[in-house]
Amino acid sequence: MRLQGWGRFPDIAAEFIEPVSVELVQKSLKEKNKVLPLIARGAGRSYGDSALASRVISTRFLDQFIAFDHKTQTIRCGSGATLDTVLKFITPKGYFLPVLPGTKYVSIGGAIAADIHGKNHHKSGSFCSYVSELSLMLANGEIIKCSKAENPDLFQATCGGMGLTGIIIDAVLLMKRVTSVSIRKRSLIARDLNECMDIIDETEDSEYSVAWLDCLASKARLGRSIIHLGEHCKDGRAEYESRRRMSIPFSTPSILLNKCSISLFNSALYNLRKYGSEISTVGYDSYFFPLDFIKNWNRLYGSQGFLQYQFAIPITNSKQTISEVLEKIRASGKGPLLSVLKKFGEGNNNYLSFPFRGYSLALDFKKEVGLFPFLAELDEIILANGGRLYLAKDARMTEDVFKRSYLDWEKFLNVKSRVDPNHLFASLQSNRIGLT
Ligand SMILES: Cc1cc2nc3c(=O)[nH]c(=O)nc-3n(C[C@H](O)[C@H](O)[C@H](O)COP(=O)(O)OP(=O)(O)OC[C@H]3O[C@@H](n4cnc5c(N)ncnc54)[C@H](O)[C@@H]3O)c2cc1C
Repeated sequence: MRLQGWGRFPDIAAEFIEPVSVELVQKSLKEKNKVLPLIARGAGRSYGDSALASRVISTRFLDQFIAFDHKTQTIRCGSGATLDTVLKFITPKGYFLPVLPGTKYVSIGGAIAADIHGKNHHKSGSFCSYVSELSLMLANGEIIKCSKAENPDLFQATCGGMGLTGIIIDAVLLMKRVTSVSIRKRSLIARDLNECMDIIDETEDSEYSVAWLDCLASKARLGRSIIHLGEHCKDGRAEYESRRRMSIPFSTPSILLNKCSISLFNSALYNLRKYGSEISTVGYDSYFFPLDFIKNWNRLYGSQGFLQYQFAIPITNSKQTISEVLEKIRASGKGPLLSVLKKFGEGNNNYLSFPFRGYSLALDFKKEVGLFPFLAELDEIILANGGRLYLAKDARMTEDVFKRSYLDWEKFLNVKSRVDPNHLFASLQSNRIGLT
């Protein structure tokens, strides 16, 4: 069947295996006594080719809830369960997940494999900080437990390891108690990038923080933005939320997304809020997952698809670096439709985890002629300033760029080679960046 990531590029033909039990997953690792490379796939929400290979094994049916423990505030569930289904189960009990990305349609396996981050990385770190244990199926079919205490180096390699150490079967997650699932949201306006980053710094005590940037504003207003801060309310609300969704039924002609329409969209977003600070109480679904409201919004970019370019940059020089990137984008006219800026706290010691102390900017670009050379120029700016690109969003990074920015790649490879000497687990991405 044809398979793609969320960005719909690349698009490949793959054998798609959907085992309905752990035993069948085991069986799939060896086919007709041949060892053919494969990669696990959760919900397919990574943007590029990290969950693409000629053989792809879906974890969709590994979605059972195995145990719930009030005392330790943990839940154990299959790796194919999505964040949404976990929230459905735990929110009525007064619990919440400590780290949530911009979509709830991500599997637990995918969240661990990318060690995802949310709007609270500056305070709470990334997803794997709340994974107390996981079961991993190795290339030989054996299932072993990993945690900070048990097989710690395999745990470090698997958290953020993009499925290359094995198939995560289930995991024990720490939940957090919340005073409400509703969010008290404060939206602030920044007239340019400088002001935006100053506000983010000054409001660092906020539990959640994210900025939407207008990258196509005129030079003087470049980076004008809306910063959405959030805290849990205190009204004791403990309900699962799900909004009705609208859908994009087919790929829209990509010509509709041009400099002019993107500029208008960004101006409209900004102008909606430009009259200053606004405080409101909103449901968690709309605060954390605004884009989930539109099903298949990735079709807006047309049949060629799009790429998300997300980088992290250290605090030092972050203003100058981000400003240089924005200026280059403005001059190129390759306007990103969505641009999201977040502040990161300390990184962890997982070998391939993305976040480290600094800023992260995510930019969506329509796939078009000239985009790759343009992004290669951005790569050089990012590397020269000590930054790196997020593997979960990537579809084009070169081996050189990867190895110059993920400095623990050799430590990762040592562990992978020990548990998967024949490189059974390989993706298009891992081949491209020289890990398999
Ligand atoms: C709208 C949107 C917003 C997003 N916002 C954020 C954000 O705010 N922060 C953030 O960090 N990310 C964000 N993401 C990216 C997303 O969280 C990650 O790409 C995540 O890995 C997707 O999970 P998935 O289940 O869809 O995994 P897939 O896309 O299916 O796979 C991703 C990787 O995980 C591996 N994998 C999946 N399941 C397993 C398993 N059981 N065992 C071993 N490996 C496995 C795959 O091999 C692959 O390498 C966003 C994505 C979208 C579409």
